Amino acid sequence: MNPYTSAIIEQVIKKNPEQKEFHQAVQEVFESAEPVIEMHPEFKKSKLLERIAEPERQIIFRVTWQDDKGNIQVNRGFRVEFNSAIGPYKGGLRFHPTVNLGIVKFLGFEQIFKNSLTGLPIGGGKGGSDFDPKGKSESEIMRFCQSFMTELYRHIGMNTDVPAGDIGVGSREIGYLFGQYKRIRNRFEGVLTGKGPEYGGSRMRTEATGYGLVYFLQEMLKALSKSLKGLNVTISGSGNVAIYAAEKVQQFGGNVIAMSDSGGYINDPGGIHLDTIKKIKEVKRGRIEEYIQHHPNAAFSEDWLGIWRLKADIALPCATQNEIDEASARILSDNGILAVAEGANMPTTPEAIDVFLNKKVLFGPGKAANAGGVATSALEMAQNSIRMQWTMEEVDARLKTIMSDIFRQCQQAAEQYGVAGDLVSGANIAGFLKVGRAMLAQGLV
Ligand code: NDP
Repeated sequence: MNPYTSAIIEQVIKKNPEQKEFHQAVQEVFESAEPVIEMHPEFKKSKLLERIAEPERQIIFRVTWQDDKGNIQVNRGFRVEFNSAIGPYKGGLRFHPTVNLGIVKFLGFEQIFKNSLTGLPIGGGKGGSDFDPKGKSESEIMRFCQSFMTELYRHIGMNTDVPAGDIGVGSREIGYLFGQYKRIRNRFEGVLTGKGPEYGGSRMRTEATGYGLVYFLQEMLKALSKSLKGLNVTISGSGNVAIYAAEKVQQFGGNVIAMSDSGGYINDPGGIHLDTIKKIKEVKRGRIEEYIQHHPNAAFSEDWLGIWRLKADIALPCATQNEIDEASARILSDNGILAVAEGANMPTTPEAIDVFLNKKVLFGPGKAANAGGVATSALEMAQNSIRMQWTMEEVDARLKTIMSDIFRQCQQAAEQYGVAGDLVSGANIAGFLKVGRAMLAQGLV
């Protein structure tokens, strides 16, 4: 590694102790950006790495709410407005007990480059809370969302910062958050994306991340002159991203053989019945284990990470960060996996990525492969601004074009900077260049 890059990474670690996911994300991007830094001395001169690793603004706030028994509960809320060089801050809200500042910063940092790759005018941000939605009643969820927005509203706006969903935040939560924003501000505006189609949401936003992931995967497979038809696919998670990735894989003739949640995974070699998964997860908000009551030929295992020991042609990690480690990557490649595409953010550890790249497994990084969700969110912002709603077909056509453009950008950047075929570096370089140039053009701000 060149001394400038390693010094800055060291400085980031020292300045932000214990934020290990953030360190991991910064390290990956900065290492990939080395050829860019060497070719563009103006970046080093203007301290671009130092500036880009420092969020423009970090907001941490108290969220108090009352549970159904009348007890007072206290959670912590976050919004990190990381970078607005190319547009208003844009990125989801995550509600999960593991949320802390380091997690929000890693997600916000990744978001800067992902949003840049979409080709749309959106900056990077992320937020959330350590609130655990599991086991909460409908009215507890609503009260929490209302309390969360009662602070968040002062920091966001349709031209400033436009949050969306992520783990634990789906259309139900976005609805409650939007309702509270509107009540406080008395403004009906596109301040959140992922809204219902009845009140300004874009058609296909729900499906967009999963569908986009599979469009990206198709571009990767074209490099091997293959299609998804007849291939066995394992998908971790059974939330928003996983379900719609599975749906698109099945539409293209692939066979989804396994899915999971944090309680375990199910294996149905004949093909997962997605209607059953949707009923369990979207309607009942139940556990994936219930699947075997409906399909007794399927097997359930409590070890949710054991899903990576199954033999398959394609793996789509769509649950959470660092779910494929080096050992799992070795098993996957020994089992002859053709391609891995990340639906989740940073689900593969750096050591596992090295295994895939060394073994010539096609690898699609999340920054590029899961950008379909935020791209469709940007399309929702555009529709809100012109007070129009596009059809499903229009949005789908735009999503397909965006995903293949992203793939091409990653491929070309990798070739141009001497790392042909490495989509991880390609995505980081292409995303970084655009943001870097915009920051320089705007002077010392
Ligand atoms: P959901 O909350 O809808 O689903 C998350 C799924 O992952 C659930 O099945 C959950 O199981 C499972 N899971 C397993 N282990 C964990 C864990 N340790 N922490 C959290 N979840 C776990 O989230 P999404 O599908 O929206 O998001 C999944 C991933 O995709 C995340 O990394 C997110 O950042 C990324 N992403 C999401 C986008 C979107 O548009 N929603 C856009 C781009 C990226 P259980 O229910 O048991 O917790």
